[in-house]
Amino acid sequence: LSAASSEAYDANAALFERAQRRIPGGVNSPVRAYRSVGGAPRFVRRAAGPYVYDAEDREYVDLVASWGPALLGHGNPSVVAAVKAAADRGLSFGAPTEGEVELAELVHDRVHRLGRSPIERLRLVSTGTEATMTAVRLARGATDRPLVVKFAGHYHGHSDGLLADAGSGVATLALPASAGVPAEIAAQTLVLPYNDEDALRLAFERHPGRIAAVITEAAAANMGVVAPLPGFNRFLVETAHANGALVILDEVLTGFRVHPGGWWALDPDGALDVDLITYGKVIGGGLPLAALGGRASVMDLLAPLGPVYQAGTLSGNPLAVAAGLATLRAADDDVYARVDAASQRVQAAVTAALTEAGVAHAISRAGNLFSVAFGVTEAPRDYDEVRAQESWRHPAFFHAMLEQGISLPPSVFEAWFLTAAHDDRALSRVEEALPSAARAAAAA
Ligand code: PMP
Repeated sequence: LSAASSEAYDANAALFERAQRRIPGGVNSPVRAYRSVGGAPRFVRRAAGPYVYDAEDREYVDLVASWGPALLGHGNPSVVAAVKAAADRGLSFGAPTEGEVELAELVHDRVHRLGRSPIERLRLVSTGTEATMTAVRLARGATDRPLVVKFAGHYHGHSDGLLADAGSGVATLALPASAGVPAEIAAQTLVLPYNDEDALRLAFERHPGRIAAVITEAAAANMGVVAPLPGFNRFLVETAHANGALVILDEVLTGFRVHPGGWWALDPDGALDVDLITYGKVIGGGLPLAALGGRASVMDLLAPLGPVYQAGTLSGNPLAVAAGLATLRAADDDVYARVDAASQRVQAAVTAALTEAGVAHAISRAGNLFSVAFGVTEAPRDYDEVRAQESWRHPAFFHAMLEQGISLPPSVFEAWFLTAAHDDRALSRVEEALPSAARAAAAA
């Protein structure tokens, strides 16, 4: 460790100790605690463009991007200006605003294929968890059926019914599910292997007339990245509809990140006839905002028009809406071209470094999202294959990068996130750090 980095470690470690006395595990969301890689998490003081700065003001190239929202990079001036201007007009009204209407119109117009948008209506909530929880309730209300199908390794937030075999932090901590979810509630969720058409067909055969919805990540990115196999999303939609069930496409992570219209607009299977789509992360540009949208006939079952209840004191908060509008308005084709190019450059450097160090690996991609699977030669297709990798190589790799000022996701079950602000300086630093990290992974 250099003097600078050992100093930085001390300041972060001191804060972590203090945090653990008053905050469970020292963090307000589990993966931040670095449990699977060890050591004290970096306490972030500020962030700018592609960089975050820790408690010692040490600079890191950030490949976490707030777990997705920072598509434009941190502190984009147009987004910050929009939030400041909104704050000057008041923080929260509990009344409708013009900005909410603009955002619903913008999403409708942005998410389209051949002139058709799947987002006829949009309701704003504050977190992705609320978006998927509400979508599930809506699907049950629309079909008057109890069961929901989800896929192992997919993460849809932390509502009771969706935590079984979940990805993200649940996978990082190797929990099969969460304590505190009654068996009666867990039994309402059928967990199937991802990318497995037979398993889906069988589930509908076994539970005729009882499945309200299939919820799926548009492209899975919470067990590392696992793209849907060609034809799987289309099969899923057709099978669900043939059996009277709805499809909820969860784009909380992929929405407005992999393409201006999200994965829905990019899916190689074409325009999927899904019923509901959930958004989060990029749609709020770094403030707490998420949404569910879809077919008018289903969305209009929400209160006050229909019998399915959902509400929120801070839903459609004007600062969050301002951040979301400014982010989406700035996210033009050039932004996506830069994120895609930055992602490809990092992927190429990772492969070169790991190959040079003799570490078998596969880069798993979905659009500009990717993750690195160690000790395998083909990208994993489901949660079992993800878990079969040599994930024990990751902590050494992660820490070698961190010591060189590169902040990676602290788990193999998370995607790497690039932003439009990752310029040549930031990307060169990643390239320079990779060879020794790859050697650390080889020696692990
Ligand atoms: N769905 C997906 C696909 C996600 O990636 C996440 C968060 N990582 C969520 C839902 C939950 O969103 P939030 O953390 O905002 O509740």
